[in-house]
Amino acid sequence: MAPAIITQVAPPSNTEDIKIRVKSGYASTTEALEASKARYAARHPTSLKLHEEAVKSLPGGNTRSLLHNAPFPIFMSKGEGYRVSDEDGHTYTDFVGELTAGLYGHSQSLIQQALIDSITKTGLNLGATTKLESQHAALLCSRFHLDHIRFTNSGTEANLHAIQGARRFTGKRKIVVFTGGYHGAVFMFGDEPAENVVDKEDWIIAKYNDLEDTRAKIEGSSDVAAVLVEGMQGSGPCIEATHAFLHQVQESAKKVGALFILDEVMTSRLSPGGLQDLEDLKPDITSLGKYLGGGITFGAFGGREDVMAVYDPRDGKALAHSGTFNNNTLGMVAGYTGLSQVYTPDVIKEFNAKGDQFRERLQGLSKGTKMTVTGRGSMIGVHFVKDGKKEIRSIGERLDDTELKDLFWLDMMESGFWVTKRGIIALILGTPDDALNSFVECVEEFLTRYERLVKL
Ligand code: PMP
Repeated sequence: MAPAIITQVAPPSNTEDIKIRVKSGYASTTEALEASKARYAARHPTSLKLHEEAVKSLPGGNTRSLLHNAPFPIFMSKGEGYRVSDEDGHTYTDFVGELTAGLYGHSQSLIQQALIDSITKTGLNLGATTKLESQHAALLCSRFHLDHIRFTNSGTEANLHAIQGARRFTGKRKIVVFTGGYHGAVFMFGDEPAENVVDKEDWIIAKYNDLEDTRAKIEGSSDVAAVLVEGMQGSGPCIEATHAFLHQVQESAKKVGALFILDEVMTSRLSPGGLQDLEDLKPDITSLGKYLGGGITFGAFGGREDVMAVYDPRDGKALAHSGTFNNNTLGMVAGYTGLSQVYTPDVIKEFNAKGDQFRERLQGLSKGTKMTVTGRGSMIGVHFVKDGKKEIRSIGERLDDTELKDLFWLDMMESGFWVTKRGIIALILGTPDDALNSFVECVEEFLTRYERLVKL
């Protein structure tokens, strides 16, 4: 398909002009959005050129669905600390935080040094077992109460192998998951599994945060190998589970002999022992990923010794678990350095407390508007919903105003904040208070500027 034709308009001379123009008011969100898109196109001519090159070799110029944005994506050229800069010369406070994987930012000095040392002294991928992997494994096991752990290349793979391990361990087949769950590229669930989900017939989908449905779905089948759940749905964005719901999952799984797999790929950053500590949970398997590789490709799953033993190759009948880069030297060293020297328990608590305060300030601004702010600690979800509901417990309850959401995304970008279109903010360690304060001010200005469109 041909690239979209972009209407170029003259770039605004300065932000003051934008405010004056927008203040005059738009009759509808559609009109405001069109104007915002036109300014976006005008501000990013180099990105447009690069996009036109990219579509020649990548379908739609894209290799990671989430990053596709109409009319074309912004191309980033550089990241430093908590900031990123685009090819068109704009610099942003990075609130994308690589969807939680970028917790350490773009240039954490200890991680940089560890990587350089590793490249120059250890060498890349040795095609062999190294002490680096057992060192990182031991630290992860102690932090997240795991007996044993195995590494993968991504969170998707971590869940894939956790599921296959559960099937081998229980001799059962079905996996209970939840509406709105995201457990990786081929594990995405609405009311039905997404089109690209593997093993289509093997999923049972229960309603997130619905205790009765959860009990009925888990206990209603004799063939459930595992229940796979997030303690907060990251792609929700940031829809929190209730304590009662998570304990219902744990209890029902135990009752029918199914394994309880807690997907902590995102949420492990919320406390020194992950969300499971905050909610007093004892999963049989925990899947991990993202920042725990220190910014390098990473995934892991671990848990009970008897369960993980299905992967013990000393047993001639072990389940195979391969992956060229499972123990790659860079991921092992960066992950270990970050967790042992940077993201220490005190830092974790302080960082997440700061996230809580930030979210509460934003939620405070949302009164009487369609905006609502969800999340926990350093993970925040900004929503625009038609009914302005302030507490969202499942994607089914989320009545998106997609145009407003897009307008917010574009407006924040124009104000110098790199946020995901879907509204998740994953804070980067070391983001200064000034940047957080300035975001709060920009959100307040947005709500005032578009008062007629956002008010309930
Ligand atoms: N589980 C959850 C909860 C996630 O958020 C993600 C990624 N966003 C994954 C699994 C998959 O991780 P990866 O992208 O590393 O495959």
